[in-house]
Amino acid sequence: MFLADPPATQFDLHFRIIGFHVRVTPFFWLAAGVIGHSLAAGFSYQMQDQSPTTGVLLLLWILCVFLSILIHELGHAVAMRYYGMNARIVLWHFGGIAIPESVSSFVGFGSRTKPHAQIVISAAGPVAQLLLAVAIVIGARLGGFRVDTMINWVNSTFALTSEHLTAPSPPMQVLLTFLLWPSISWALLNLLPIYPLDGGQITRELCTLFSMSNGTRISLAVSFATAVGVAAYGFQRGDMFLAIMFGALAYSSYQMLQRYSGHSGFGGGFGR
Ligand SMILES: [Zn+2]
Repeated sequence: MFLADPPATQFDLHFRIIGFHVRVTPFFWLAAGVIGHSLAAGFSYQMQDQSPTTGVLLLLWILCVFLSILIHELGHAVAMRYYGMNARIVLWHFGGIAIPESVSSFVGFGSRTKPHAQIVISAAGPVAQLLLAVAIVIGARLGGFRVDTMINWVNSTFALTSEHLTAPSPPMQVLLTFLLWPSISWALLNLLPIYPLDGGQITRELCTLFSMSNGTRISLAVSFATAVGVAAYGFQRGDMFLAIMFGALAYSSYQMLQRYSGHSGFGGGFGR
C-alpha cells in the first residue's frame, strides 16, 4: 500500500517464493499473535479433553495468517509481474505490502492502460485470498464436511453449515476456521473503498476514469464517509479494535481531503 519500505531489523525473515523476495518483520508475528490470542484460548477451552495447549493453537493460527496474507500479497505481486513490473513483498504489523521494484516502468505506462492495470493489481490481492478460501471450502464440502467461517452471512449465503453435512473433527474445525476466517475477513475488509486499502485504490482509479479533475477528491470523500460508517458500526457493536482502526483511517482520509482540496487539479500522491 505504500512505496516506502518499513525499516529493516536483524530479526527479519527473508526468503524467495516463485521469484519474489519476501521479508517478514518480527512485528508481523507479534501482531498476528495479539489478534489471535483470544481466539486460540477460546478454541482451547472449547476442545477440553482433546485440546492442545493455547500456545500450540496460537502457533497454528499465526502460521495460517502468515499463509493467508502471503497469498494476498502474492496476488498483487503476480499481477504486477503480468504488467511488466518486478515486485518484492514485505509482511509487517497488521498485514503486508507488495512493492514494485522499478517505479519508472510503472510511471511509463500509457495513460489508457494505467488505471486498468492499477485496478487489476489492487484487486488481485483480495481475489487471491478469496480463491484460497473457495478452494478450502470446496475441498471440505467434497469431503462432506460442514464449514464454519465465523462470518454468519457467508455461512448462510453459501449454505456452508447445512444439517446434512458432517461436523469436522475438532482439530480439522480449528484448521478450517484459522484458514478461512482471516482469509475472508481480510479480503472483504481490504475491498472497502477506504484509503489506503486495496478498495480505496480501486475506487480512486474508477472515479478518475469518470472524472479526471474530481476523481481523487470524490474517492477521498467516499473513503472518509465509509470509514466513519465502519467506525460507528464497530463502536455500536462494542468492537473497539474496529472502531479505533477505522476512526484513524477516517481521520487520515479527512486530512488528505483537506490537503487535496487546497491543490485542485494536482494528480494526487498516494502510492500503493
Ligand atoms: Zn492488498
